Amino acid sequence: MCGIVGYVGCKQATPVLINTLKKLEYRGYDSAGIAVMNDDEILVRKAKGALRVLTEDITKEVVRLNDKMTGEECDAREAELIAATDKFVKGTIGIGHTRWATHGEPSDINAHPHTNVSGTIAIVHNGIIENYAKLKEQLQAQGIVFKSQTDTEVIAHLVNFFYEQTNDIFEAVKLALKKLEGSYALGVICKDYPDRIIAARKDSPLIVGLGKNENFIASDVPAVLEYTREVYYLDQKELAVVYSDHVDLFTEDGEKIIKEPSHIEWDMAAAKKGGYAHFMLKEIYEQPKALKDTLHPHLVFNGDKAVDIKFDEMDFSSIFENVDRIIITACGTAYHAGVAARYIFEQLTRVPVVVDVASEFRYKNPIISNKDVVIIISQSGETADTLAALRLAKEAGAKVIAITNVVGSTVSREADRVIYTLAGPEIAVASTKAYTTQLMCLYLLALKMAAARNTVSQKDFEYYLEQLELIPDQVEQILKDQSNTQKFASENFNKNKVFYIGRLIDSASSLESALKLKEVSYMHSEAFAAGELKHGPIALIDKETLVVALATQKALYEKINSNVQEVKTRGASTLVICQGDEQVFVKGESADTIIKIPQIEDIFAAITAIIPAQLFAYYCSVLRGIDPDKPKNLAKSVTVE
Ligand code: GLU
Repeated sequence: MCGIVGYVGCKQATPVLINTLKKLEYRGYDSAGIAVMNDDEILVRKAKGALRVLTEDITKEVVRLNDKMTGEECDAREAELIAATDKFVKGTIGIGHTRWATHGEPSDINAHPHTNVSGTIAIVHNGIIENYAKLKEQLQAQGIVFKSQTDTEVIAHLVNFFYEQTNDIFEAVKLALKKLEGSYALGVICKDYPDRIIAARKDSPLIVGLGKNENFIASDVPAVLEYTREVYYLDQKELAVVYSDHVDLFTEDGEKIIKEPSHIEWDMAAAKKGGYAHFMLKEIYEQPKALKDTLHPHLVFNGDKAVDIKFDEMDFSSIFENVDRIIITACGTAYHAGVAARYIFEQLTRVPVVVDVASEFRYKNPIISNKDVVIIISQSGETADTLAALRLAKEAGAKVIAITNVVGSTVSREADRVIYTLAGPEIAVASTKAYTTQLMCLYLLALKMAAARNTVSQKDFEYYLEQLELIPDQVEQILKDQSNTQKFASENFNKNKVFYIGRLIDSASSLESALKLKEVSYMHSEAFAAGELKHGPIALIDKETLVVALATQKALYEKINSNVQEVKTRGASTLVICQGDEQVFVKGESADTIIKIPQIEDIFAAITAIIPAQLFAYYCSVLRGIDPDKPKNLAKSVTVE
């Protein structure tokens, strides 16, 4: 999901591509590559790991060509050598890519660019081709041998297929796009058209940078800022044909589009965050797309209606049929996804669930049997305690299902089955989009298990799939209406104590809300199951306290309203986050402020309920003068105990 660039001009393309890719490194990636149009061939260089590995590879080849320098000299003169790469990958048109693997582990072969069989067409791609398996099968039936495990490679062969029919590269790309489902930003070069790049986008970002006698494509503005401040933002399903002296824009049907370029005023730091003040805010706003990306590839449609769930080629049926108990173990935010999942799985599948923090699980001599399914949740796939729990579970003969955001991570390699959150790289330390996409995977898994065990009827199953499909748009809606949350934060960011309360799945959301707030604002926050208040925590309530009630469970509105009354009477300020239809909470009585979220079946409210809490934590952080992206004492991936 990471970065693509392209260059057409009179300079040597390789150094420009590497330079522009470097500007996209902040987006996170696991491999990199370039393809440059040489005199009569396209040369591809790609490597797993940091861009440095790729440039080292290229410079080593320069060294070998020069056959003079030692390794040390090579290091010392890296910049010079990169500039000298024209001796090696010579050419003034090229495309480049930083890959964040979604399909196929990070490796040299899976790195982009990918080519057709004869190597005359090269492409870079960001996004996910949801119907790649079907397309791959069709192409394989024509005798095409695939080199990589990526979804992307189908595009190269598909463009080739249409190119053989039309002999026109623009037509070929246009026709290929019509066959693709999912998201893409694409850059394509073809040996027979040595003066242009074809670019296109749907659901993944792409801009065209306009220079003097040189033009660029890039996933994001920072890549090209050093060269130009004039850009076209490509809209959904638009195509661009980029030459050194001009750019033509088209609709998906090939009709020409005329539009004005935008002038970029931002500085580099702002540009990196796509105009957002912080990565945390950017990632909060990326959630509708991340949720769609995570959900859609798993849905099986009959016409427009989702009727089933699939997990690639993985078969879960043997696991689902033989399960006596589900154990969920994880750390931090991922653990909270597990706590929410206990309610989801127990309600939908009627299989008992236990949830443990991984650092406890690994040392408590846990009771595990081969009839247990152990679900491991880790954004990075490298969390030390979670990994230890996974190994323990496998040793005991349990089946392990991992939910992770990183293809090829240790957790993904060692688990029996993996479901990926397609959230894209998460850079802010405090997790937001990883959490909500973890919940989406858990909903999918629970529903699939429920269907396999006949604990939901087909009718209810399809209704629940509809509910899941509502979520990305509902999140979008909450983000659009966020001004009330921002205002509330401006009135409450200096509170000394914040308590989150909720019942059932809302008590899990409360835990995550309290964690988010303490992580980024350093405000003292705790979470309690609302019914527990009077068993102790109510002793802490006073005028200094803010109590946030998460109230999405319709049958318990009255109960939680009583809890809100109890704290209000004792002087606390109160905020209620509830579903749009409720009538129980009255502003000015128990609730000082009410934030409503769109209506959904109660059990599916965990994702939408957390969004105002994420925003509240973010705004409190900023208002308190803290950098929410780098909270003190915290690390993104906790790979030590
Ligand atoms: N889905 C593609 C892959 O796994 C592209 C990933 C990306 O956008 O970096 O190779």
